[in-house]
Amino acid sequence: MIRAAVVACAALALVAATCQGDMRQTPAYSVAAIDTAHVPPFSGQNAHALLRRQVDFGPRVAGMAGHAAQLGWMTRHMRDRADTVIVQEFTHSASNGRTLRMSNVFARFNVNARDRILLLAHWDTRPTADMDRERPNEPILGANDGASGTAVLMELASVLSSHSPPIGVDILLVDGEDYGPGEPDMYLGAKHFAANQPPDFRPLYGILLDMVGDRDPRFPIETNSYEYAPEVVDRVWSVAEQIGLGAMFPRTDGGRITDDHVPLNKAGIRTINIIDFDYEHWHTHGDIVENTSPVGLEAVGRVVTALIYNGG
Ligand SMILES: [Zn+2]
Repeated sequence: MIRAAVVACAALALVAATCQGDMRQTPAYSVAAIDTAHVPPFSGQNAHALLRRQVDFGPRVAGMAGHAAQLGWMTRHMRDRADTVIVQEFTHSASNGRTLRMSNVFARFNVNARDRILLLAHWDTRPTADMDRERPNEPILGANDGASGTAVLMELASVLSSHSPPIGVDILLVDGEDYGPGEPDMYLGAKHFAANQPPDFRPLYGILLDMVGDRDPRFPIETNSYEYAPEVVDRVWSVAEQIGLGAMFPRTDGGRITDDHVPLNKAGIRTINIIDFDYEHWHTHGDIVENTSPVGLEAVGRVVTALIYNGG
C-alpha cells in the first residue's frame, strides 16, 4: 500500500510514505523492563474534559479571541501545578503580511534534576479548513489537531503535581505549528524554542504528541522519528507493549511527517512524534469534540506516565 504524498500540511506535511507492515524491526539493544507498581493512574476522561474546554474557546489562531482566552487559561493551569512556568512570547512576520503575536508555554517539574525529558504538543489550530469543501477559508476547531496533545500534557501536569516524578519533566506547549499554509509559516513555536532554549538544556530526549484523540487511535512509527532517534522510538513502543497497548502502538511504518519534532531534532534534541495521522476530519470543520474520544488520550497518557515514573 502506498500512502501518497498529499499534503501541504498541518500539523504536518506528509511527504511520501511507503507503508509495508512490519518494516520496523526491534533493534538489537535491549530495553529495560518497566515496573508499573509506582506509576500513578492517568485519566483519559479528565484529559478529554480539557480537550472539550479548549474547543469551547473557539479557534486558537493568533489574533483571535480564542487564542488569547486559551493562553490565559492554560498558563494559569500550569502555574498552579508546575515548579516554574516560562511564557516565551515572540512575533512572526507571516507570508500574508500579518505580524503574529505568539506564545509558547514552558512548564518545568523537578527543576533541579539532571536527567530530564521534554514533552511537547501544539496548542494553536489551523486558520483555514483547507481540506474541506465547505467554508475552506474559515478556521477549524481543532479538537484533535491541536487540543488533543495539549489536553494530555495539561492532565499530565496534574499527575506530576500530585506525584513527585523521579526525573525532571519539561512540558512545552507550542504556538504556531499550524498557521501555514506553507512551511515558512509553520512549526513557529518549535522553531522559536529550538533557537531560544533555556541555559544548559539537555533533555535525555523529547516526545511530541499530535493528533492523539481519534475515536479509533493507532500510532504506527513515524519515519523522521525513527531516523532521528531510533532508540527513543524503541523505548516508547516497548513501554506501550509492556503495559498492554501493543496493538495500538504497532511497529509498522506510519509514513514521514514533518512536524514540531523536526526543528528540535535539527537543534540537537532527539525527539520523536506519537501521531495518528489517519484521521478523516483532518483540516476540516469535522475536527470537533464528537469526532474524538478519551481512548487515545488515556493510552498516550499512560505511556508517558509509565516512562516518567520509570526514570525516562
Ligand atoms: Zn494541522
